Order: sequence, then structure tokens, then C-alpha cells
Amino acid sequence: MTKKRIVLLAVIAALVAAFFAFDLEHYFSLEYFKHQQATINAYFQSHPVQTAGIFFAIYVAVTGLSLPGAAIMTLVGGAIFGVLWGTVIVSFASSIGATLAFLASRFLFRDAIQRKFGDKLTAINRGVEKEGAFYLFALRLVPAFPFFVINLVMGLTPMKTRTFYWVSQIGMLAGTLVYVNAGTQIAQVSSPAGLASPALIGSFVLLGIFPLIAKKILEVTKARKIYSKWHKPARFDRNLIVIGAGSAGLVSAYIAAAVKAKVTLIEQHKMGGDCLNFGCVPSKALIRSAKLLSQMRRSREWGIKSASPNFEFRDVMERVDRVIKSVAPHDSVERYTELGVDVVQGEAKIVSPWSIEIKRSDGAKQVLTTRSIIIAAGSSPLVPPIPGIDEVGYLTSDTVWDLRELPRRVAILGGGPIGCELAQCFARFGSQVTQVEMLPRLMLWEDPEISEMVAKRFHAEGIDVRVNTKAKAFRIERGEKVMVADQNGEEFRIPFDMLLCAVGRVARTKAYGLENLGIPITHQRTVEVNEYMQTIYPNIYACGDVAGPYQFTHTAAHTAWYAAVNALFSRFRKFKVDYSVIPWATFTEPEVARVGLNEIEAKAKGVPYEITTYGLDDLDRAIADGAAEGIVKVLTVPGKDKILGVTIVGEHAGDLIIEYITAMKYGIGLNKILGTIHIYPTLVEANKYAAGNWKRAHAPQGLLRWIERYHAWMRGGNSGASAAGEAPRPAAGRHA
Ligand SMILES: Cc1cc2nc3c(=O)[nH]c(=O)nc-3n(C[C@H](O)[C@H](O)[C@H](O)COP(=O)(O)OP(=O)(O)OC[C@H]3O[C@@H](n4cnc5c(N)ncnc54)[C@H](O)[C@@H]3O)c2cc1C
Repeated sequence: MTKKRIVLLAVIAALVAAFFAFDLEHYFSLEYFKHQQATINAYFQSHPVQTAGIFFAIYVAVTGLSLPGAAIMTLVGGAIFGVLWGTVIVSFASSIGATLAFLASRFLFRDAIQRKFGDKLTAINRGVEKEGAFYLFALRLVPAFPFFVINLVMGLTPMKTRTFYWVSQIGMLAGTLVYVNAGTQIAQVSSPAGLASPALIGSFVLLGIFPLIAKKILEVTKARKIYSKWHKPARFDRNLIVIGAGSAGLVSAYIAAAVKAKVTLIEQHKMGGDCLNFGCVPSKALIRSAKLLSQMRRSREWGIKSASPNFEFRDVMERVDRVIKSVAPHDSVERYTELGVDVVQGEAKIVSPWSIEIKRSDGAKQVLTTRSIIIAAGSSPLVPPIPGIDEVGYLTSDTVWDLRELPRRVAILGGGPIGCELAQCFARFGSQVTQVEMLPRLMLWEDPEISEMVAKRFHAEGIDVRVNTKAKAFRIERGEKVMVADQNGEEFRIPFDMLLCAVGRVARTKAYGLENLGIPITHQRTVEVNEYMQTIYPNIYACGDVAGPYQFTHTAAHTAWYAAVNALFSRFRKFKVDYSVIPWATFTEPEVARVGLNEIEAKAKGVPYEITTYGLDDLDRAIADGAAEGIVKVLTVPGKDKILGVTIVGEHAGDLIIEYITAMKYGIGLNKILGTIHIYPTLVEANKYAAGNWKRAHAPQGLLRWIERYHAWMRGGNSGASAAGEAPRPAAGRHA
């Protein structure tokens, strides 16, 4: 830092320190002003220009040094000078003060910050250069952030000083006017009755609703800017058009039809989308057959000498097909047509914010206009660009369902939910499975011991799990397909007959008009939406996998509700999507289900927690069922029964966790779960026992010792604590 900078920093620091050290803050209060009001008014009457000059200088100093007090001074400005002059004086003083703070921050810190984080700030700098004035205007209009923070932060950006000054002056004008006006009313209050005067109440109501009005103005301004290059039709063919008939699209269309909107649902491929045709439904059907096989092989555990599985893989896959066909009517064209949805089979393309071009399956083209659009285009499997992958060929979750012959050796890329579920299935059908994951463990988002429980089971079932292993290339060597992999710097080969790529799914964002409209895509490659599921075009929404951040059928349905209701009724009320309680499950054996925080997330977010566990090996029903494996792991607020998150591993974990999901959603704690009758003997009793463990660990020890003395006294013995009073076994550990 140069000498000049050090001197300036020292001067500013000394002034700020003096302000607090001499308690100058108390001069910036309404009480102080009211106390001095008569004296100030008298001085103003005799010396109006000097009063304005002194006020102006103090105001500039306070804002320039980023000291607290500008809001009070604005009210006082109204009280002394009235609406017109108060607004003029405050408007210039606040803009000049803000610009001084902006310049000081720029002079002191900008070079250093840009030098240090220049590459990371490139996008922000570009954004500020392009749209900085608008952002600043928005921040000034809606006081979401303290103004002094805005002054200092803007100083670090490349924004021109001139732009900063005039945008600040214009942006703050409305707010200044509202505050100054409220100030004039304070000046009138001379008795308690004055507090209830309509003018004062009106001023404060205005003060309260100003941010809302400002926000609305901003939304309208922003929307105008976005829509400016498009021609809006005078009338619309539809209230809503939904692109994609997967879980998100179906729910959106269903809601629209239920509330009597005219809605068209467009699907280019199969009704029901991924969940029905390539995802949840076929995978769960396959898992069921694989589980049966596994249980037959373990028949001795249930007292049955032998149950030799005799099966054809083809028959299993045909059952999967039949299951899809049985569920398909729920998502069919016929059902949705009956519900009042206009279903069109074809490819949709957004050609303007209000019109969709449809290329029907019969080749005909049609353009429909609509007031709102919901993009529910889903996601597709990600195929990593590993050399040779196309040459050896691969299957994904889209194509694996066409398989009819069981491959002898299966290589699976990916240790996520799809990779894990299918690895276990193929192993149980008899394939030799190698699962390759480049991260340190399977299901990395779960706590390490949870991943370990699954990995242990996988090893026991003969799956060759290779973590910390990266697939580098694929080759055909002597007629055999081979994966060249690297594990901690050591290269080895994995021969296989079938490669399944399950490294994740990526949102479908191409070839249906997003580029044309300039709808932004996030770093996670999903369509960018706000908390109302709106894209940058307020009448275009996105939900489900295409919008993320979750990729589940239930979250697709959840976000679809917000998209549909907001798309149809936003002019009356808009709903912010609620991601506070999001559950999920991975349907391996053991099944893993979670809601809320686990330990890794709590640590990452710095949330203090306590852990309570209950092992399913202790549960009567699990023992009877031969499923005494797994755990209920609950994170609670230290010292309280408030649930932060739960992970359940074991048979039907995805069903058992529902009780905790409900509890978290409605703020029910472990005490209430413990106080609820659970049917005996069921697996869900595990939830109650976990709550019981928590309760035991939080039993009031001091009180119990007194009660023990009381019982001893009732027995006529001495009142000392006896050995019979077994101390509760602590089951909860505290973590900060
Ligand atoms: C193997 C597997 C197992 C899974 N298991 C589970 C599970 O157990 N539980 C769970 O909750 N989730 C599971 N999922 C995830 C779940 O399937 C998805 O999260 C869900 O299907 C997302 O629904 P969606 O409506 O967002 O997208 P999709 O279901 O992908 O639907 C999008 C639809 O949009 C159509 N479309 C796209 N572009 C256009 C266009 N321009 N014009 C017309 N139509 C278009 C597509 O054809 C598609 O049908 C699984 C996924 C897979 C792959």
C-alpha cells in the first residue's frame, strides 16, 4: 500500500474511531432531535442558509465516512426544511457523500482486490461494465442492502464515478422523498394525539410499503427491458404451454387444467418422460427381481433349505417392460386429455416469449401463442469424452432397458444413485460387475460410514468397487473391450463386455429456443430461474430436472407446482419455492434415505449439531424379517429435540423416513415422535427408538437423583443414591 493510501486510511480510521469513542452516535437519534427541535428551528428561522450548509456538511461527512445516522438525518432534514428543500438538500448531500465513500474505497482497495482476484472477478467486471448502472439503480431503489455497503462495494468495480453519482442520485430520489416526507410529519407531533394523525400514519405506511412499490417498479422496468425487442400478441391461444410431459410437465399441465386454464402439453418422445420410461419405474422393477434372486440365494437364513433361482434375463427385462406398460396409463395422452389438457405429440420450440412452434409427429407445423410457458424438458445422461468410448460402445440409463441378454462382465462408470442401483442389480443377476468411481467413495454426498455400509454390502455381493479410480481410455485389445483406468497413479485394465455410463445427468437446454431468447444457463448447466421458478422472462418458467438443483421425480413435481401456480396467478400472488425439507432415497440394498442435513453438510455449513443413532440390528421386526442391518441417524440442535436432518439405512428406509420428513416440515421434535404410538412390530418403530435414545441421553440427571432419593425414602431406607439407579446410557454426542 502506498504512503498516500496509508495516510488516508489512518485519517478515516481515526475519524470513525472518534465518532464511536466520543459517543457522537447519540446525536443521531430522533429523541435527541425532538429534544433540540425548538432550538434548531429558531436557529433555522434566523440563519436559514447557514443551517442548510451545516446540515449538508454533516450529512456528507456521515455518508462519506459510512457512519450510522443517514436515515435519521433524512427524517430530520424533512422536519427542518420541509418536503421540497429537505429532498433537494438530502438528495445532493447523500449522493455526494456516497460518491466520496465510493472514491475512498476505490482509492484504497480496488487495485489490490482486482490484482488478487482479477481472474475470478472477470465475469462480475464485465457484468458491471454492461449492466452496472441498472444493478446500481435496482440496489438504490430497493434498499435490500445497507447503502454504505453498496458505496464501498461499487468502489471496487470498474464502474465510472460519473455513472455512480447520477444513478445514485436518481435511484435514491424516491426513497429520499418518502423519508423526508415522513420527517415533516414527525416535526408536527407535539402531543400524543398527534401520533395518531392521518398524515403521520400515512407517511409511515408509505415508508413501510415503499420497498414493495420500488420492487414492483423495478420488476416492471426489468421486464420492459427484456421484452423490448419482441412483439407481444394482442390475444393468446392458450393460458399456458408446457414443454415436456415428464413428471414436472405432467404436474404443471394437471394443475393448469384443474384450475380451468387452457393448457397445451407438448411431448416429443414418450409420455411420462424419464421417470416412467427410463428412470424410477424400470429401475425399481429391475431392483425387485434382483432382490428376489438375492433372497432366494439366502433362503437358508429364513429356514428354507434351497430355492434355486432359475431365470432368463430376457424374462426379467420383459417384466420391466410390462411394469412400465401398467403404469403408463397414469401418464397417457388419453388420461390427460380427459383431465382437460390439450396434449400434442411433437417437438416444441420457443420462437418468442409468447409463441411456441410445434413440429408434430406427423410432420405438420403449428404456432400457438400463450400467455405463459413452462419449460419442463428434463435431463439426459452425461457421457464423458473419454478417448475410445464411442468405439467400444456404451449403454446409459436411456438405453439399458433394451438389453435382453445378460452381459458376462459389466463395467459401470459412476458411484452415484443410478450407478449403484444398477451395479447391484447386474451383480445379483450374475454379471461380474466392476464399478469405477473417481471420487474417494460411493454416494459421496452421504456421510462416510453410510457410504461404507453400502460399499461393504457391495463387496459381500461380489461387486468390484474401485474408488479413487479414473477411466482414462477405452480400447479393443485382441477383440476384447478394455477400460484403461488409473488408481492413485497406478494404471490397470478392466476387461468388460458391457459398459454402462452413469456419471450424472445434464439438463436439456439446447435446440428448443433458449439460445434465441438469450435465457441464461447456470454453471450447473441448468436453466437459470429465480425463487419463483421464473426465467429472465417473467412469463417463462422452468421446473424439474431442467431447472435443478435436484434431480428427483418428487422435486420435479414440487417445483412444477410453484411454476404452474405462479405462471397462472402471479398477478395476484407469487409463491417462493420451498427447498427447506427435501428428501431422497437410493434404492440399493441396504436402502439409503435422507432428509435435511447430514454430518458433512452440517460441518460445511458450520451448523452445530448432536447425533443420535439407533441400530436396526436391535429392532424386533427387522430381526424377524432377516433385515437386521442398518441405522437411523438423527441430527438435532444441541440440547433441543429440533431435527436438523435424518439418514436411514436399511430395509424400506425410503418409507421409514416419511415420519421424519413430516416432523421436519411441520416443526415436530423428537419428544413428539417418542410420544406417538407406533404399531408393534414394525420397521417404523426404529424412528421411535431413535427418539428414545435421544431422550435417554437428555434425561435430567440431577432431578433423577432426587427422585431416586425420594423412592428410597418412601421405602423407609436411607436417601442416598443406590447402585440400582443405572445411569442412562448416553447415545448422543455433541458436535460443534
Ligand atoms: C435410472 C434412473 C432412476 C431414477 N430413479 C429415481 C427414483 O427412484 N426416484 C426419483 O425421485 N427420481 C429418480 N430418477 C430421476 C427422475 O427420473 C427425474 O428426476 C424425473 O424424471 C425428472 O422429471 P422431469 O419432468 O424434470 O424430466 P423428464 O422426465 O426428463 O421429462 C422431460 C420430457 O421433456 C421432453 N422434451 C424435452 N424437450 C422437448 C421439446 N423441445 N419438445 C417436446 N418435448 C420435449 C422429453 O422428451 C421428456 O419426455 C431416476 C432417473 C434415472 C435415469
